Amino acid sequence: MPSFKVDLRSDTKSLPTPAMKQAMVEAELGDDMTGDDPTVNKLEAFVAEMFGKEAAVFACSGTQSNQMGVWTHANRGDEMLVEEKSHIGSWEAGAQAIISSVSTRFITGDQGRLDVPHLQGMLRADDQHMTPTRLLCVENTANAGGGISYTLEHLHRVTKWGKDQGLKVHMDGARFFNAVVSQGYQPAEACKYIDTISLCFSKGLGCPMGSILVGSHEEIRKARRARKIMGGALRQSGMMAAAAHYALDHHVERLKEDHDNARLFADEISQIPGIKIDPTNVETNLAFFEIDPDRGYATQLSAKLTKLGIGIGAMGSYRLRACFYIGITADDALLAARQVAAAMETDLSGLPVAANGPYARG
Ligand SMILES: *Cc1c(COP(=O)(O)O)cnc(C)c1O
Repeated sequence: MPSFKVDLRSDTKSLPTPAMKQAMVEAELGDDMTGDDPTVNKLEAFVAEMFGKEAAVFACSGTQSNQMGVWTHANRGDEMLVEEKSHIGSWEAGAQAIISSVSTRFITGDQGRLDVPHLQGMLRADDQHMTPTRLLCVENTANAGGGISYTLEHLHRVTKWGKDQGLKVHMDGARFFNAVVSQGYQPAEACKYIDTISLCFSKGLGCPMGSILVGSHEEIRKARRARKIMGGALRQSGMMAAAAHYALDHHVERLKEDHDNARLFADEISQIPGIKIDPTNVETNLAFFEIDPDRGYATQLSAKLTKLGIGIGAMGSYRLRACFYIGITADDALLAARQVAAAMETDLSGLPVAANGPYARG
């Protein structure tokens, strides 16, 4: 296992702080599967209220809470609409097909975001020949889109349109609090036309694990069944819910520091020959950049950076992603940028491309 001085491969690398661990140790516990863990119950009520919804259910991971949402809204043989580079579409191992027997229609959006013109004409009728369109999923912030968020107006426009077409609307809000901090909207206001929302605590919020799905009483009842089917109904999960509650109280506003560090890194590397990035496109905690194809593949630059103690992953043939999160300082961002410059001064051509080819991801 490589050891990194600065690991920007993912915001899932964030570690719980001592104060968060203390909150976990002190949590009052019970059996969550039978509804008897007071800390889980408190978190679920708190998050439901924050989003102006009736209920919420704690989950193991963002993949699980997204798939609980799909299960809740769509039946076997139905179709859902997702942006082509979305997590649900491309990074959840096809779970909606495996678990819910739901087919996926991939829509090309703009930087991972969907808008009404992308969706018009993409709905299939409830006709015997077709897979009826039941569900629209939006991702906010859009990871592969560059960590870009929806503005309030844009989010309302596309989600209200979905509701007006009779669709259910789910938001993959793995990094929704990054959007909240960037856009300055209130969760309940932003999610007015959204049926269910999945949030991750294990990314920039710094928890060891945990996600949550928010929605109506009826939807969350169905989602609990889905969670059970997926083997995700837990017992004394209050320890994890305590970490999540701590993060919501203490780690949301500080996400701004991560956004500033991502921009600082982007500004620095934009000066490096052979690196392409528009720092004004770095809105939240993710900085995507490209290597000039004449200089090598993203995987080769990533391999060189690993040797220099910097973790930055390849996200396409020539595209890389650096993630900023709690525990990564401005000095770390500057060190990482200096090492990108150092790596680009070397010949990358002899470095490994990737086990399954340079086009493996993206
Ligand atoms: C990380 C992530 C998820 C959930 O991932 P898990 O690893 O299953 O927790 C969902 N959506 C997006 C956009 C993500 O980045």
